[in-house]
Amino acid sequence: MKYIFSLEFIYLVASITYILGLKMLGKPGTARKGNLIAAAGMTLAIFGTIFLYQGKVPTYIYVLIGTAIVIGSIIGWMIAKKVAMTKMPELVSLFNGMGGASAALIGLIEFEHYTGKMLSTTTIVAGIIIGSVSFSGSMIAWAKLNGTLKNPIRLPKYNLINNLVIIGLIVFAGFMTWSGTSSQVYLYLLFFAALAYGIMLVIPIGGADMPVVISLLNSFTGLAAALGGFLYGNMVMLTGGILVGSAGTILTFAMCDAMNRSLVSVIFGSFGQGSSEGSDGLTSETMTGSIKKTTVSDVAILMNYSQRIIIVPGYGLAVAQAQHAIHELEQLLVSKGIDVKYAIHPVAGRMPGHMNVLLAETNVDYDKLAEMEDVNPEFKNTDVVFVVGANDVVNPAAHTNPSSPIFGMPILEVENAKNIIVNKRSMNPGYAGIENELFYNQKTSMLFGDAKAVIQSLIAELKGM
Ligand code: NDP
Repeated sequence: MKYIFSLEFIYLVASITYILGLKMLGKPGTARKGNLIAAAGMTLAIFGTIFLYQGKVPTYIYVLIGTAIVIGSIIGWMIAKKVAMTKMPELVSLFNGMGGASAALIGLIEFEHYTGKMLSTTTIVAGIIIGSVSFSGSMIAWAKLNGTLKNPIRLPKYNLINNLVIIGLIVFAGFMTWSGTSSQVYLYLLFFAALAYGIMLVIPIGGADMPVVISLLNSFTGLAAALGGFLYGNMVMLTGGILVGSAGTILTFAMCDAMNRSLVSVIFGSFGQGSSEGSDGLTSETMTGSIKKTTVSDVAILMNYSQRIIIVPGYGLAVAQAQHAIHELEQLLVSKGIDVKYAIHPVAGRMPGHMNVLLAETNVDYDKLAEMEDVNPEFKNTDVVFVVGANDVVNPAAHTNPSSPIFGMPILEVENAKNIIVNKRSMNPGYAGIENELFYNQKTSMLFGDAKAVIQSLIAELKGM
């Protein structure tokens, strides 16, 4: 019985909930429950630490902790309640940055308590560097995702400078641990230099490369938290940090794969070095062919007589909040005996898994979501591809234009389908800011309008057929 109320036991239970929660997050059907289970484990770990800690803690510290928890919970609850689904990616970046900042602050506070202890100091300086980079990098990612920072900023030789700064940081950190210094000046110099490096790392990244950097920052935060856990010998913090860090690393590799980038080039060079946005040499004037507009009625007829339709959702679906409408359209088409599925590009939207999250909200059958490698060979046998609010992820320039910032990125090869219907509001480019020759393809018809309104009209037309 005594063991059940011990901190070790509580940490064990909490660690199990993290692993379970993470596993459940892997499937849309169980993701919500998984999140709740892991959050319950985290709450248990926090309160266990507060009430079962054996060391002496002055009462005012409990008051401070309690106040921070109450204020943080209220702010977090209000933000989560109010946030629009389209703002989710930037909120995730913001929260990720807060995790990095916490890890860096732990290092700043604890440094003086561990002077002369080589292993602990190494852990602390590593935590400060990684946590600070994650914090300032995430703030830049947040600004890029919400449109405040529209274009990448690239100083001359920025890659060389960045590499020199990170090498300098590592050498300086090595000097600090080796010399056993207790200098607060050195400590804050390291902290501010790491913050600057985080900005310098993310600010030159072009739009199309953001998914990689976002997942990389995610893994940095986990790693920084794990270092905090290692410093304190706190198992639950260590487990949580390792899980976030490794999940983030797996995601980084998945995103590198999705973008056809190598991690080495991501960290040490040529990252985001493609042309800056809108500078792929293509403009609407240099595009060959003209665009063909279509109407809801024509698309409804085309769909009604199709046997196979593939829907390609993109960021515009999230903007229009059209996830419920698209699910209704899919069910209607299926009821007419048409084979329908969704083609999911790993970087569609503005955060890894964005389309899965969006469609899971409407309980779309998971079997209907097809991954890029599986669905690409199927386009040639598809009567209609319905591209809804997607742009960069279906841009053939990734295969055909070496000067394009997305060159080399695998795309959904929708141009192989028999008919391509593209729904968007205008001819404006997507996040990477580049023209899309798909819109000028002879098989493509543009169905202009807000995705939700267009899909609802399509449903109305199809119901009458
Ligand atoms: P894009 O940003 O390429 O294109 C979205 C399109 O949606 C736009 O062209 C826009 O055109 C259209 N759109 C916007 N609102 C609506 C609406 N209400 N109704 C209909 N259409 C609308 O999105 P993709 O999903 O194709 O590609 C994602 C891009 O974001 C990639 O470049 C990726 O690298 C980047 N990115 C991805 C991240 C991730 O982790 N997934 C993170 C950061 C960046 P119009 O204005 O004419 O309507």
